[in-house]
Amino acid sequence: MNFELSPELAELQQSVRRLAQDKVKPRAREIDESNEYPQDLFEIFRDAGLLGLVVPTEYGGSGGGILGLAIAIEEVAKYSNSAALMLLLTRLPTGPVLIAGSEHQKHQYVAPIAAGAQRAAFGLSEPQAGSDVMGMRTRAVRDGDGWVLNGVKCWMSGVVQADWYCVFAKTSADPADRSHDSVTCFVVERSWDGVEVGATDRKMGVRGVDTGELLLHDVRVPDENVVGAVGGFRLAMLGLNSMRPVVAARGIGLAEGALMYATEYVQERAAFGKTIADFQGIQWEIAKLAVDIEAARMLTYRAAWLADQGKFTKEWVPYLSMSKYHATEVAVRASNVCLQLLGAAGYMKDHPMELYYRDAKQLTIVEGTSQVQLGLIARGVLDRDLWWD
Ligand SMILES: Cc1cc2nc3c(=O)[nH]c(=O)nc-3n(C[C@H](O)[C@H](O)[C@H](O)COP(=O)(O)OP(=O)(O)OC[C@H]3O[C@@H](n4cnc5c(N)ncnc54)[C@H](O)[C@@H]3O)c2cc1C
Repeated sequence: MNFELSPELAELQQSVRRLAQDKVKPRAREIDESNEYPQDLFEIFRDAGLLGLVVPTEYGGSGGGILGLAIAIEEVAKYSNSAALMLLLTRLPTGPVLIAGSEHQKHQYVAPIAAGAQRAAFGLSEPQAGSDVMGMRTRAVRDGDGWVLNGVKCWMSGVVQADWYCVFAKTSADPADRSHDSVTCFVVERSWDGVEVGATDRKMGVRGVDTGELLLHDVRVPDENVVGAVGGFRLAMLGLNSMRPVVAARGIGLAEGALMYATEYVQERAAFGKTIADFQGIQWEIAKLAVDIEAARMLTYRAAWLADQGKFTKEWVPYLSMSKYHATEVAVRASNVCLQLLGAAGYMKDHPMELYYRDAKQLTIVEGTSQVQLGLIARGVLDRDLWWD
């Protein structure tokens, strides 16, 4: 057993740490207030090779894997979860293509993501179908040598900037069909007729990278843009399973950033003839969060290591879901406790705590809520995928 990062990953961690301190930290508040897409950071990430971290070398990436991406995201999320989301979006929509796509699709759609020449977004959720994925109503109807798609996807992160979308649609004759092979995954290009970005959401946090609707109206999609075999529910789940440590990394980075900031503050803040860091009640809060963060990091790094070995099928789900569940709940707890440690200052926009607090909450909702993760972990134990004997 070895808990050390490889020399390459340790170097990546150090270089992204410096980049995050120099370039991301000074922009975090501005991104939140302006709610404008940080194109400058996208270009900085591109020039640093971070957009291709998770992409295998044969498609123009650096082959850093899920673990490499998670480590980079952890560093960036210490200061800005919007910037961390930009890195996450190099994997969420490309995941199904990397897992089950054709060579042609990988070269045509994934390679430009690694180069920073294109962006993509992931369309699974619909207004009536979030956790209940099989409630989706977007339909793909066979037509000649292709498909015609109609429907509305919602809450899609990065929908405005994306050049292409990884979209899931019902391909069965009956749209009410809930069988898992009734869903298919497609790559849909933004420039195609009938593809339109609808309303964007007014979000509580993680501003600057829009979420919103994708409207599909009689969109013709050729057969060559079907990802994997027709029957894509399993592919959606494989993609999401492999993403659990990547979302988790957004949580641990946020919690680390909040705790480091709050620790420096309480060591400076005088009260009752001491600093507030001298009070045991404060120290115990710091200690409990430090334990939570390190536990979440262990779960996240292990999950990323598993995912990089292709271990994101059903039997590995509890380990993957646990990382997402714990790390994102820790992020919410840490931002709450750390805001409290700053008192009134924590409530004000002069400090980043209220931003951490607003940003953290989306993490327990996206890509499978905490309750959905608990369900998956429990299923793993009940099925003996996770068992200690
Ligand atoms: C900022 C943001 C960005 C997003 N980006 C994307 C994106 O890029 N692409 C995309 O496809 N989607 C995206 N989503 C959507 C996200 O994946 C869904 O919000 C999520 O899956 C939950 O679905 P829902 O919101 O419909 O909640 P619901 O499914 O309606 O759930 C509501 C509540 O009920 C609970 N619940 C539901 N089912 C169960 C159950 N079986 N047992 C116990 N509790 C349950 C949930 O945990 C939750 O607390 C994004 C959401 C947000 C907030």
